[in-house]
Amino acid sequence: MVGYNAYRGRWTAQRVGKLIVTELSVKRFRARPPAATDRVLGLAVAGGMLRAAVADGRGKILGRASEPSDNLDANGVLRRLTALASAALTAAGLTPVDIKAAGIAFGGPVDPYRGLTIFSPRSPGFEHFPLAALLEERLGIPTVLENDARAAAFGEAVFGAARGCQTVIYVHLGTGVGGGIIVDGRLVYGASSTAGEIGHMVVTAGGPLCSCGKPGHLEAYASEAALRARVWEALLLSPDDPGHEFVRETRTVAGLFECASRSPAIQRVVNDTIQMLGLAIATLIATLNPEAVIIGGPMAEAGNALLDPLQARIRQFAYPASLQRVRVTLAELGADAPVVGAVALALARS
Ligand SMILES: [Zn+2]
Repeated sequence: MVGYNAYRGRWTAQRVGKLIVTELSVKRFRARPPAATDRVLGLAVAGGMLRAAVADGRGKILGRASEPSDNLDANGVLRRLTALASAALTAAGLTPVDIKAAGIAFGGPVDPYRGLTIFSPRSPGFEHFPLAALLEERLGIPTVLENDARAAAFGEAVFGAARGCQTVIYVHLGTGVGGGIIVDGRLVYGASSTAGEIGHMVVTAGGPLCSCGKPGHLEAYASEAALRARVWEALLLSPDDPGHEFVRETRTVAGLFECASRSPAIQRVVNDTIQMLGLAIATLIATLNPEAVIIGGPMAEAGNALLDPLQARIRQFAYPASLQRVRVTLAELGADAPVVGAVALALARS
């Protein structure tokens, strides 16, 4: 199973010219997964919620607690996260001394090596904030920090829709477009820990501006905000479209997919979005040759209204040889993905 080898496998290094090639001896570690009797803590600061979950060595949740993150700054989040951790421990009938390790999934860029958040798109005070060390100090539990999309990818690969897969692409479709990439059983970080930023893949030359300021990125087509804005724009240009009648009542972005069949204007925007997603994912499939592509986040709640046409686009665009063994499917963990991923990371690093 992917995950248990991700951080604790033994590395062998060999110099080839100027390049150091490292290789993980996966089999050795796979024989020693965490024991069922282990207890770990998963925490998540993501999607406007704070969550804590205590789990056993098989990932079974024993106790949990959650609340909205509201308008808290970094110190407020730290204070409430500590309280939620205590509540989850009490619910599980445990105390911090019973817990082997903790993982935190954070909704924003992080430095996983130093346990720092880089900044938060939602809350002030997270600029180079030592969240892992501060929680470790308060709870007395060794703590690791990860970006929420990468944690969700890891959670899906260990306990969710990609169980047992060694090479996985996870695509998060929500407020932003994010992702996590696992290759041969290891989460991929890259030179400055930005690997998996699928939202910033270029899908058109000179397209609309992305939240990062660059033109034509996937996020400018496939984030919730981008999709809603483009639907409004399309309806403004089509005053007789039936979509005007029901678009105001459509609260979720998944709902837009479901009602597209009744509105030609909305259908065009949805088709366009799926085309861009298909282009990006087909490129990733050709590059990484994954076993599974997992589609998660609020937009994935559209279910087959999203998945079926997306699979068709991917089949249309992707390199045939890399399509043979890939499964494109919806995430299984839903809004729990980051906290379950944090549990999986705590287990992998404990
Ligand atoms: Zn961008």
